[in-house]
Amino acid sequence: MKISKERCVGCANCVPICSVGAIYIGDDGLAEINTETCVECHNCYRSLSFEHLQPGLTRTIRRVLKKMSLRFQPDPDVCPTEAFIPDELSWPRIVRRAFSDPMVTHESTGVHGRGTEEVKTNDVSHRIKAGDVGVVIEFGRPGIGVYFREVQKATMALAAAGVVFEEGNPVTQMMADRAIGTIREDVLDEKVLSCIVEVTVSLADTAKALQTVKQICRAAETVISIGVSTVCNEDGSEPLREILEREGYQTGWAKVNLGLGRASNASISTGGTRS
Ligand code: SF4
Ligand code: SF4
Repeated sequence: MKISKERCVGCANCVPICSVGAIYIGDDGLAEINTETCVECHNCYRSLSFEHLQPGLTRTIRRVLKKMSLRFQPDPDVCPTEAFIPDELSWPRIVRRAFSDPMVTHESTGVHGRGTEEVKTNDVSHRIKAGDVGVVIEFGRPGIGVYFREVQKATMALAAAGVVFEEGNPVTQMMADRAIGTIREDVLDEKVLSCIVEVTVSLADTAKALQTVKQICRAAETVISIGVSTVCNEDGSEPLREILEREGYQTGWAKVNLGLGRASNASISTGGTRS
């Protein structure tokens, strides 16, 4: 994303709109974007309304009014001179937008936003099968974001813990070697608003995977959230809760997918999915 120096009048309306604090008012009194911090989420471009005032005239009016201790300030959600210019992004920077702009579809998965459906459609996709545990680890959030170099530390630790990376996940698609959890070298310095790593482990290996995630959290330079999911038995019971409690987690189901989608092959699954 760029801001045109010719069009900006320095009203600062765009500064609080940025998802990661990349927009600031420079020494010249005009808005600038820190391109290293910007994750190309397009939130500024989508959230502001654009008016088409003449920049030179608007600057003059603002200057004159300021001398009179008055000011001309557009409504807070308006860029008065349409100063934003979206860049034509190329690889690898385009990865920032793919993971950060919820309006963009991931080419690898065909899903918007972070590019994964997680386990929301497990009743028909069967990502997580009976006896397995799905673990989703989300890196970054609005306000902080995450570099793929940071994510790679986690994927390498998880690979060493014996997890299986979910095939239909965009981070998996960017891996150079899934056996050791490395991510493509050319995207490691790209920063995104957030991304989700999805792995599957057997119930027997779940405690080890959770301990690995705890270690990752201690050294992380971003915010990390973890979610787990499992297929419950027909009577509603499941063995995952006991493992979670042993590992020091308070349990309580955040989400129950009721199984409204049904498998055409009834032998694959019986219960719904809890996460
Ligand atoms: S809202 Fe527009 S005119 Fe105001 S500071 Fe930002 S880019 Fe410049
Ligand atoms: S594209 Fe997103 S990160 Fe970049 S300046 Fe706009 S709001 Fe900030």
